[in-house]
Amino acid sequence: MYYYDFQVVLQEVPGEISLCFSISGCKLHCEGCHSTFLWKEENGNLLTESAYTSLLNQYKNLATCVLFMGGEWHQDELIKMLQLAKKHHFKTCLYTGEETISEEIKNHLTYLKTGSWKMELGGLESEETNQKFIHIQTNKNLNYLFHKN
Ligand code: SF4
Repeated sequence: MYYYDFQVVLQEVPGEISLCFSISGCKLHCEGCHSTFLWKEENGNLLTESAYTSLLNQYKNLATCVLFMGGEWHQDELIKMLQLAKKHHFKTCLYTGEETISEEIKNHLTYLKTGSWKMELGGLESEETNQKFIHIQTNKNLNYLFHKN
């Protein structure tokens, strides 16, 4: 599994400081995609277990959540990374463009964002969006946390 980018982000998961990995190889090719550099498999760097674990240790008292932007197409590897995050006491989140993902992945998530990018409907901050941000354990839709008013 290759990642194009690693960043610490504050807004993608409300109330959490997240270690965000953008995974290469997205096959959805949404019209107007803002991250076309993620379409090509093996763009960026290989996410090795040792590099990943070292980041988890480095940020263990600073961040609270690990966020994957995609990666559901590498189910086994993604699950391994989610398990490691949980072992290091991080919450976990996946942003997918799909409408749904497998139960096997869901079992390792605290939060899940579903839905492709549709320019005319907007992202999570839009009241018209097709996307959903869900707290998995309660199945509660948390989109309201992204609304400005
Ligand atoms: S799911 Fe995200 S990265 Fe993939 S094509 Fe759609 S907008 Fe781009």
